[in-house]
Amino acid sequence: MKIILLGAPGAGKGTQAVRIQEKFQLKHISTGDMFRANIKEGTEIGKLAKSYIDAGKLVPDDVTCEIVKQSLEKVNGGYLLDGFPRTLFQAEELDKFAEIDLCLNIDVDTSLLLDRICGRRVCACGASYHVSTLGGKTTCEKCGKPLYQRDDDNPETVKARLATYEKQTAPLVDYYGKQGKLVTVKCGTETPDEVFEKVCAVLENFNK
Ligand code: AMP
Repeated sequence: MKIILLGAPGAGKGTQAVRIQEKFQLKHISTGDMFRANIKEGTEIGKLAKSYIDAGKLVPDDVTCEIVKQSLEKVNGGYLLDGFPRTLFQAEELDKFAEIDLCLNIDVDTSLLLDRICGRRVCACGASYHVSTLGGKTTCEKCGKPLYQRDDDNPETVKARLATYEKQTAPLVDYYGKQGKLVTVKCGTETPDEVFEKVCAVLENFNK
């Protein structure tokens, strides 16, 4: 299966991606993770990406498409694209170098997103929590590493990221709808496990 995970910042793409990759044995490719790894290593791509990420803007299409293309060249089986494509241009480019089976759109009420992202604490292993459920704990339940808050998970940047999503990424719902590849999972206040049940129902049905 070759899947795109679409959704606004804070919709839970990363959380679901970790579960999906384990259960369905798909390679998880996250452009956000790739940019953060580049920033940590101090590469040229990292330096460029940081200025856009800090402003809540998208990294330029050419750079983003190239790192995805290179990373897909190394993948043999199925994969899960998390956070890519994010613009119509990226979607059209992707059509030139990959054949996607399904676009899974995680649709969460926008009013929930600001609090979700600003309260988010993440771990290097991919796990993600909300401060309100941590009871003061500062380490990851799964691996014990320290939790931290992403630099771009602050109210000002989050507002810019949500606006960027509406303007540049939301049109992809129509793009994949027209291709007959879109499945939307509508979520409200469900827990990640409950959302995952819905996601599994879609993917198991698709896998038959
Ligand atoms: P994420 O971890 O998916 O929330 O991505 C964090 C940030 O990385 C985004 O706010 C963008 O600045 C940048 N980014 C991630 N994926 C893309 C993409 N497909 N196109 C452009 N910028 C991206």
